[in-house]
Amino acid sequence: MILRFVVFALVLIVVISILRAVIGLIAKAFSDLFLPPQNRPSSNAPEIPLTGELKRDPVCGIYVPATTSFKKTVNGEVVYFCSAECRDKYV
Ligand SMILES: [Zn+2]
Repeated sequence: MILRFVVFALVLIVVISILRAVIGLIAKAFSDLFLPPQNRPSSNAPEIPLTGELKRDPVCGIYVPATTSFKKTVNGEVVYFCSAECRDKYV
């Protein structure tokens, strides 16, 4: 039955996206638990987020964390950039 397979595939996609959301929430809760903002060391080491998705800068091709990057909404889609210069170059 092809219809059965299609329904199964759709259910699988929904389940995977729910799982990804739940895992993301758990990861965020854990990072908040272990690294409360007031207890973070104030060293001059660059802030590299332990969690979060990496997004590709379409201008220079490097990967940037979605939480710290420069964002621009293009045709309803959020595009991420490493810097304001890259963001301004992107049309
Ligand atoms: Zn860039």
